[in-house]
Amino acid sequence: MICTGCSCLCEDIEIQDSKILNACEKGYKHISRFKESKAKNRVYGKEVDLDKAIESAVEILKSAKSPAIYGLDTTTVEAQRIAVKIAEKLNGYIDDNSSFCLGEFVEAILRKKIPSATLDEVRDYAYVLVYWGTNPYHSIPRHMSKFTYYPRGKKRNRGYDEDRFLVVIDVRRSETAKLAKKNAKFIKVEDDLELVDSFERALEGKAPKYDVAEIAREMKKADFNAIFGGLGLKYGLRGNYEKFFSFLNKANKFAPLYFIPAGFHSNMRGFNETLFEEVGEVNKFSFIEKRSDPNFSFPELLKNKKIDVALIVGTDPMSSLPFDVSEKLYEIKKVVLDPRETFTAKNAEVSISSAFSGIECGGEMVRSDGVRVKLEPIEKAEIDDVYILRRILEGL
Ligand code: SF4
Repeated sequence: MICTGCSCLCEDIEIQDSKILNACEKGYKHISRFKESKAKNRVYGKEVDLDKAIESAVEILKSAKSPAIYGLDTTTVEAQRIAVKIAEKLNGYIDDNSSFCLGEFVEAILRKKIPSATLDEVRDYAYVLVYWGTNPYHSIPRHMSKFTYYPRGKKRNRGYDEDRFLVVIDVRRSETAKLAKKNAKFIKVEDDLELVDSFERALEGKAPKYDVAEIAREMKKADFNAIFGGLGLKYGLRGNYEKFFSFLNKANKFAPLYFIPAGFHSNMRGFNETLFEEVGEVNKFSFIEKRSDPNFSFPELLKNKKIDVALIVGTDPMSSLPFDVSEKLYEIKKVVLDPRETFTAKNAEVSISSAFSGIECGGEMVRSDGVRVKLEPIEKAEIDDVYILRRILEGL
């Protein structure tokens, strides 16, 4: 089966005699506990059957003056596509976690502003591997063992301490940074923009402020290098994405360097790609204004009291958003689709129990590098996000 525990979407998970093989601990828990704390179909706190829950969801969405659809990063591309249709039908907003996660990087790749590659190509060819502002040890646990540092590839078959050069850039010595020993470098970053400058200078043969001259020399030796950028990079850039994108393109004049976003929910990239195909934007989109805008991100809509109803799919914003934002969720009506009895589901006006994508239902997801995978569920639930969203769309 395919594990949907993170955006690695590991395809080598085996279930033998109820044992889960090959998964990391995060994946093991994700798969083994799927039957725990299942959500219930409820309307205003009272348990109801599925039809009544869907009927009430439709009523609430129809009565909305300014609705938003939010979440969708753990569901399938098929469900995401229906959710976009619902947002369009409602003339509402649609957004996912990527608006405050790695959406800008995915957008740059989709608009072909920066060079990117697949993780399979990284495994086969990459020499310098830069983890910038991300700690895969926690967020994407098998990234290094399946795709980047540890595996031997077609042109990289001499072992990780000879045929890879590992660079970890972080504000602290993370678990990943502790691996940077032989043929490797850890950079404790204080100013990411200055570090970008330093890389540029070092590649041009000028003296850099940060000690990156050796990395630049190693990059120039190889015909394939990769940066995996995470949230630390995003926030370290302080909005200066263009400077980073320009660096990536300039760097490619000296040494091939590809960028792959790293560390997010299983199908965040799928959401970005689906919305991009439908409307030409990757997130925070308004169907009234027909454009994307930072003010249309779900947290901003809540903070600025721009919405009165939210259809929330497969995420728990009452637990995950900052308190000054999440408390605003009490002021609006919420329809929640989730397999789990989350805090948001418990507080929703309508909660509908769905299936775990990849475990109880199939469909398609998009890995962090853009590779599409077909899920192989171990059980087949009759009621999944596609079924529920389709019925809601029909009801509208
Ligand atoms: S790395 Fe991610 S996809 Fe792979 S087994 Fe672990 S949680 Fe699942």
